[in-house]
Amino acid sequence: MWFRRDLRLADHPALVAAASTGLPVVPLFVVDPAFAAAGAPRRAYMTVALRRLDESMKGALVYRYGDPADIVAQFAAEVDAATVFVTRDYGPYGRGRDAVVAERLRAAGRSLVGRGSPYVVAPGTIVKDDGNPYAMFTPFLRRWRTHAIAAPLDHPEVEWRGAPTVACDGPPPTVGPGCELPDIGETAAAARWSSFADDSLDRYHEVRDLPGIAGTSQMSADIRWGVVHPRQLLVDLAPGSAHDTFTSELAWRDFYADVLHHRPESGWANLDVRMNAMPVDSDAAARQRLAAWSQGRTGFPIVDAGMRQLLATGWMHNRVRMIVASFLVKDLHLPWQWGARHFMNHLIDGDLASNSHGWQWAAGTGTDAAPTSGCSTRLRRPSGSTATGSTPGAGYQRSARRSTRCRSSITPRSAPKRCADTDSSRVALANLECQMLDERKTSILRAVVQEYITTAQPVGSTHIADLPSVRVSSATVRNEMAVLEQEGYLAQPHTSAGRVPTDKGYRFFVDHITTPGRLDSAASQRVGTFFDTAHGRLEELLHQTTNLLAQVTHHAAVVVGPRAELATVRSVQIVGLSARHALVVAVFSNGTIDSQTIDLDADTSDLRISAASAHLQAGMVGHSIDKADQTRSSGDPSVDALCVTALAALRQGGNDESVFVGGASSMAQAFDAVDTVRSVLRTLEQQYVVVSLVRDILDRGLTVAIGAEHGVEPLAVCSVVVAPVMVDGDQVGTIGILGPTRMDYPQALATVEVVSDRLAKRLGEGAA
Ligand code: FAD
Repeated sequence: MWFRRDLRLADHPALVAAASTGLPVVPLFVVDPAFAAAGAPRRAYMTVALRRLDESMKGALVYRYGDPADIVAQFAAEVDAATVFVTRDYGPYGRGRDAVVAERLRAAGRSLVGRGSPYVVAPGTIVKDDGNPYAMFTPFLRRWRTHAIAAPLDHPEVEWRGAPTVACDGPPPTVGPGCELPDIGETAAAARWSSFADDSLDRYHEVRDLPGIAGTSQMSADIRWGVVHPRQLLVDLAPGSAHDTFTSELAWRDFYADVLHHRPESGWANLDVRMNAMPVDSDAAARQRLAAWSQGRTGFPIVDAGMRQLLATGWMHNRVRMIVASFLVKDLHLPWQWGARHFMNHLIDGDLASNSHGWQWAAGTGTDAAPTSGCSTRLRRPSGSTATGSTPGAGYQRSARRSTRCRSSITPRSAPKRCADTDSSRVALANLECQMLDERKTSILRAVVQEYITTAQPVGSTHIADLPSVRVSSATVRNEMAVLEQEGYLAQPHTSAGRVPTDKGYRFFVDHITTPGRLDSAASQRVGTFFDTAHGRLEELLHQTTNLLAQVTHHAAVVVGPRAELATVRSVQIVGLSARHALVVAVFSNGTIDSQTIDLDADTSDLRISAASAHLQAGMVGHSIDKADQTRSSGDPSVDALCVTALAALRQGGNDESVFVGGASSMAQAFDAVDTVRSVLRTLEQQYVVVSLVRDILDRGLTVAIGAEHGVEPLAVCSVVVAPVMVDGDQVGTIGILGPTRMDYPQALATVEVVSDRLAKRLGEGAA
C-alpha cells in the first residue's frame, strides 16, 4: 500500500517494481485534518493536483479523511497490506506523524517504509567531515555538488490493482483558491518547464533578479507539491553559468530543508536565538501596518505590486519576496512570523522550510544574515500614490526610525505625503477621507443600508427623502441613488423599484460610516450572566460560548479555542517507543492530554530519557506550555537538548485548535434558495474551511469580510465578523459570526467584541 503523494511514482522503484510485477498495490491519499491550517490557495492547488494525479492513475486513488495514524492502520488492515510505503517527510509535523503511523502499523505486525524525498539530496545527507550539518549555504553547496545524484526513472506504466470496492471517500472538496491558479498537473508542469527552458534558462543568471521580466521558471508550486521532482529538472541542465545558477537555486531549497531538519523549531522561531532580544511591535498600530502591507496599500509601489500579485496569483518573484519581507521587518518593525504566516496563507508554493528561512534571511535571524550595518532608511512613498488612500504612511516613518536593524534600501520616487497628525491610526483614517463619498451620498448610502438591514425590502428614494437624516428632495435622492448604483454601491433587483446595497456598499458602510454599536441591555445581561456562571471544562465553555453567540445574534457562530496552551501542566513524561523515537505525554489542568512523537539521537539511552523526563517535569509542572522554563540547565547538554525537543513538540501540538460551530440552522433561515441553504450548511460542516476562514480574515487584519471577500465560494452570500481572543497580549483563540451580507454590522461587531473580551478574561483567570 502506498500513501501520500509527494513525488512522481517513478521515484518509488520498489513500489513500481511491485506494481508492475502484478503484486496488488493500493494507492491511498489521506486528507489530514491538520491540512485545514493551510491557506486556501495551497489547498485549492493540492486538490487540483490530486485530481490530475487520480486521472493519470485512471481513478485508482483511494481517498480517506481523518487522523493519518487511524486511517492508515485501518486501511492497511482492510486491504491486508504487509507493507505501507510513504515518501519520507522531513518537516517537523510530517516526521512526528509518520513516526506515529509507523508505531501503529508495527503494533499490528505491519511496516511503514519511507522511500525517497522530495529533494535533490535528502535532508540530513550533506554533512561536514566531522558529521555536523552545515550552517552556511556556500560550503553546503560545494559539498552538495559533489553528491552523486540518481537519474529519475521513466514514467511507470502500472495497472493499479487491489483497491477495495467500497468506502472511498472521494477527493477533498474544491476550495475557492481566492486567486487565479496556474494550469496544474504533470502535463501543465512539463509545458511550463519547456517554455522556460526555451526562452530563459540560458540567460537565467542574468535575468533571475529582474522582477519585471518573466525570467524564472515559476515551477515552485509544481516542485512543492511533487508534481515534478527537482531531479527531473536537473537532467535537462548542462554546465555553464546560467544552468549552474539554476542548480544552486534548487540547492537553496535543499539547504533550507536540511536546516529545518536539524533545527525543527526554526520553522517558527529565530534560528539565531541571539535575535530573540530584538524588539518588534505587536500593538494595535502594528496590526494596522500589517493589514496595509498584506493588502498592498503601503504606498510603496514595488511592495504593493508584490503583495497584490500574491493575493491575485498566489505567487511572487523571489526578488520581490525579499523586498516585501525586508520592508515588513525593517521598516514596519513587525515580527517576521507575521509576514511568514501571511505568505503561507496565500502562496501556492508555501513550504515551511523555504518560507521561514527565506523570511529569516530577510530578518537577519536565520542562516545567512542580510547585512546588518552600513545602510540607512530611505523610505519614501510617491506623493498621493496609495491605491486606496488608506496608508498609515507616517506610521511607517516612525517605526522605521525606531528600528535598530538594517534599513530597507527601497528607493523613494518622491517625498511622502505628510500628515500633520502623527498617530498612525488617525493618519490612516485621515487618508481614508480622500476617497470618501461626499456627505450627501454618504448619508443616503447609510440610510439605504440601515433600512435594508431592518426590513429586508429594497429601499425606494421617496422613503429615503422622508428621513430626517437626509433632508433633500426626493428628486435629488433619486439622482444620488442612481450615481451610487453606477459606482457599484447599490443595485436594483429586477423585480423592484427600490435598491439594495451591494457588497461594496456594505464595505463602505462598515469602513467609513458605522461605528460598533452597543449591545442592548438584554443581550448584555445575557452575556454577563453567562460568563459569571459558566463552569466546566475548557471544551464545554467554548461550546457554550458558541451557542451564546448564535442565540444573541441569530447567526451561525464559530469559536476557535486553544487546546492546551493556557492550561497548566499537571504532569509530563517522555516514554521511549523505539531506539529512534519517543513519546512525550503531557496531562493538563483542564483534563486534556497531549502526546507527541519525537526523534531521538541514535545513542539515546533509557537513562537519558528518564533524566530528561524528570527535568521536564520539574520545569513544567504548574506552568502553561508557553510559560514553561526552558532555559534552566540539567547540567547534561544531551538531556537539555532532549527537553528542548520535547517541549518544542508539545508547543507545536498545542497549536491544534478546537473548533465549535453553532447556530448554522438559524443562519440557513436567512436564505430563500434551497441550493444556497444546502451549500452554506455543507460548508459550515467542514471544520477546516471554517477555521481557515476566520484565521485568514484576521491575518489580513480585517474584522469583517463581506460576501466574496473571504474567498470561500459557497459562502459568497455571507459576511463574517471576527475578533481575536487575547490573553496577556497573546492571541489564544478567535470568535466569529457568519450571517447573510444583510447583517446588522454594528450589532455584530459589538457582540463579538464583548464576547471575545469576556471569554479572554475567563480564560485568563485559568477558567475551565
Ligand atoms: P526559480 O528562480 O525558477 O527557481 C527554481 C526553483 O528553485 C524554485 O521553483 C524553487 O523550488 C527553488 N528556489 C529558488 N529560489 C529559492 C530560494 N531562495 N529558496 C528556496 N528555494 C528556492 N520558495 C518556495 O518554494 N516556497 C516558499 O514558501 C517560499 N517562500 C519564500 C519566502 C521569502 C521571504 C523568500 C525571500 C523566498 C521564498 N521562497 C519560497 C523562495 C523563492 O522565492 C521561490 O522559490 C521562487 O521565487 C519561486 O519562483 P520560481 O519557481 O520561478 O523560481
